[in-house]
Amino acid sequence: MTRLDLARFPRLPFLAQPTPIEPLDGLMRHLGAALNGVRIFVKRDDVAGIGLGGNKLRKLEYLLGAAKAEGADTAITVGAIQSNHARLTAAASAQAGLACELFLTRSVPRQDPDYTGNGNRLLDDVFGATVHELPGEADSLAAAEARAAELKAEGRHAYVFPSGGSSPTGCLGYANAASEILAQAEAMGLTFAQIITANGSAGTHAGLVAGLAAMGLDPVLAKSFAVLAEENRARAEVLEKANATLALIGAERRVSPDDINLDGRHRGPGYGIPTEGMLEAVRLVARTEGKLLDPVYSGKAFAGLLHDVRAGLYPSGSSVLFLMTGGTPGVFAYKDTLAGRGA
Ligand SMILES: *Cc1c(COP(=O)(O)O)cnc(C)c1O
Repeated sequence: MTRLDLARFPRLPFLAQPTPIEPLDGLMRHLGAALNGVRIFVKRDDVAGIGLGGNKLRKLEYLLGAAKAEGADTAITVGAIQSNHARLTAAASAQAGLACELFLTRSVPRQDPDYTGNGNRLLDDVFGATVHELPGEADSLAAAEARAAELKAEGRHAYVFPSGGSSPTGCLGYANAASEILAQAEAMGLTFAQIITANGSAGTHAGLVAGLAAMGLDPVLAKSFAVLAEENRARAEVLEKANATLALIGAERRVSPDDINLDGRHRGPGYGIPTEGMLEAVRLVARTEGKLLDPVYSGKAFAGLLHDVRAGLYPSGSSVLFLMTGGTPGVFAYKDTLAGRGA
């Protein structure tokens, strides 16, 4: 088995790897014949490491590794008010000994205290970040760059990275994860027909595509369900970020739109807005597995997976792997949505 060698890129350890791969036995027992003979496994990127865990830690290992290597004293990033990426940047910066500043936009139409002050937003403060809140339409990355220039004039050194940590350097985290998954599958005697993730800022999917392509494998093995951008824009973003990551890795191969396996049908009315499918998925996995999906990302992606499995998309006897990407604090920001006592 080819493995990807990314050892030349500086990296800080924020989560123990490999993260576990587990079968969803309770869910599969519950679904029975509706599974159409498919086995569902999850990769637990939600439980390992610091800050309550999540996929952004894999990106932050390389982002803050690069920041430290260039002598930065401050990490600056952007996101929505309930950004998991912002919360994990705050936690990882604390551990790396960097100051952290977050530029958060009110891009989801909610003003209630669960959304504005609980969940991730509460943890940003607990982890000691300096938070700047901006209107939904503000250019937060421009504000972050302006702040970095201000700090530079004071003799400081800020490292700025985009929403979701999805720069080519951040995407290395999931290129590496692609290699990790293949090694684990081989050791477990499994072949996955699909590796499935939620797609917000496109870096997780792009990293997986880059990793698979760099190892000479078919990038359509990775599939994402877009929860932020509409389908065509999300596909273009994955394509661009995957190719930028391949360039950074030094691979010769480039991918084309046909290599990007992406489904935009489970996003619902918009980013951060609940859907029936999300609610069903979060409750089903909680009540058959004791595991938590999140209301913004993995809940909608898992709804997509359930739809595909029930529709018979995968041949009987095949195994699929769903990335549990974290987002647990989001549960507390969606109290009124999730609190319904009904099934
Ligand atoms: C950010 C995030 C994703 C999506 O990852 P991207 O790399 O931004 O596409 C999925 N799940 C959770 C819980 C996230 O926080």
